[in-house]
Amino acid sequence: MLNDTHSSLLIRGALALLSGLPGDAARTTGADIRIRNGAISAIGMLAPEPGERVLDASGCVIYPAWVNTHHHLFQSLLKGDPKGIDCTLTPWLAAVPYRYRAAFDAPRFRLAVRIGLVELALSGCGTVADHNYLYWPDMPFDGSAIVFEEAERLGLRMVLCRGGQTRTRQLETSLPKVLQPEPLQAYLDDLSRLQQRYHDPSSQAMRRVVAAPTTPLFSMQPQELRDTAAHARSLGLRLHSHLSETVIYQQTAQMQYQRSPIDFAASVDWLGADVWFAHLVKLDPEDIALLGRTGTGIAHCPQSNGRLGSGIAPVRALEDAGTPISLAVDGAASNEAADMLNEAHVAWLMARARGGHFAQPEYAGGNGETGAADATVEDVVRWGTAGGARVLGLDGVGTLQPGMAADIAIYALDQPRHFGLHDPAIAPVASGGATLRALLVGGREVVCDGAIPGLDLAELAAQARTAVRTLQSLATS
Ligand SMILES: [Zn+2]
Repeated sequence: MLNDTHSSLLIRGALALLSGLPGDAARTTGADIRIRNGAISAIGMLAPEPGERVLDASGCVIYPAWVNTHHHLFQSLLKGDPKGIDCTLTPWLAAVPYRYRAAFDAPRFRLAVRIGLVELALSGCGTVADHNYLYWPDMPFDGSAIVFEEAERLGLRMVLCRGGQTRTRQLETSLPKVLQPEPLQAYLDDLSRLQQRYHDPSSQAMRRVVAAPTTPLFSMQPQELRDTAAHARSLGLRLHSHLSETVIYQQTAQMQYQRSPIDFAASVDWLGADVWFAHLVKLDPEDIALLGRTGTGIAHCPQSNGRLGSGIAPVRALEDAGTPISLAVDGAASNEAADMLNEAHVAWLMARARGGHFAQPEYAGGNGETGAADATVEDVVRWGTAGGARVLGLDGVGTLQPGMAADIAIYALDQPRHFGLHDPAIAPVASGGATLRALLVGGREVVCDGAIPGLDLAELAAQARTAVRTLQSLATS
């Protein structure tokens, strides 16, 4: 394994490479990659240099490491709760995440974060934006510190999206003192603290901080949202939240503000190239145009949206309008997994399914059969890598080209599902389920020979089983 980022490494012999770039640049004629000082120094057909270490990638396909732009890592211990498995968003929120909030102490929170990050790393993900909303006044542990510590332990890039609320959504059956909302000033002060302690504005940062009240329509009053946006921007922080996930957002925005959720976001200064929202499923054409015009990004979460019955986000229309598209797993409690390769596979299918779902026959004024061109595999890889880096503002991450960070996922096509493929480059996304041979982040091998060095997966599984039993005993009814 190579963890000296100053050494030279040559990844050699792969079948194909997708770069994360658009158009013809998505593919290269040679798939060998030279890495120096944690960055890519050359790509093509390369011969080893004297003293250079060679990583044999024969039989493999190479992608940029995935960039996951929306997660709730604490939910990694809340998968598949029978009380929420067949629920839509609002009853699911009450039945699963809210019911367990008070049951998380520092060790259980840390374990959940670790499980989520391990799963992501083993799927080929190198950068994670965690939308953590487990905060309350005078809480006894520092969840922000734990998230950064666990990411650093594995060697992943971490973007902490500091959630929280100044209003309660009243989905809790009761509201213990530890679950009270925070005063706005306490929220803003913590943003300042986190910015000072962790935020690195550089283009290949390992640590970033983002202002992310849990959901604009439910978590803060309009003026508080404006104040939060102004404060975050004064600190050089981006903005993130949930929006337009289901029809509930439309109903609430209409009832409370007589406008769409996107119009509401505009009215509180929450649109722009420094903002991205998870979901954006329920949009009308004016919303799509406004999001595109302002360059507001999306964290597209097709598995969670499917699992909760929310719908399918119009990513083709959004991208055509100018919205940066990224992919995300959302929390594992509304996904039952948090695997970026799975997510990309489903994103590829769902974008096409949506296109076909709205196809109209020509006799009715439609265009006949449509849908299959709405998302190519190259599009999906670009969304899940370069698109993610773009919404996070990590300009030195997300594509495979000289000068970029050496964040690289190497997949072996060694399963029967991959036998007989005519175009190996598309296999990890189109066929799904490829084995991760290696993951590099900034040139460091986070995963090598399919495993995380030093990690005892059986022990982690045993800890998870114990924690699930404890959480069940502590959940509110
Ligand atoms: Zn979410």
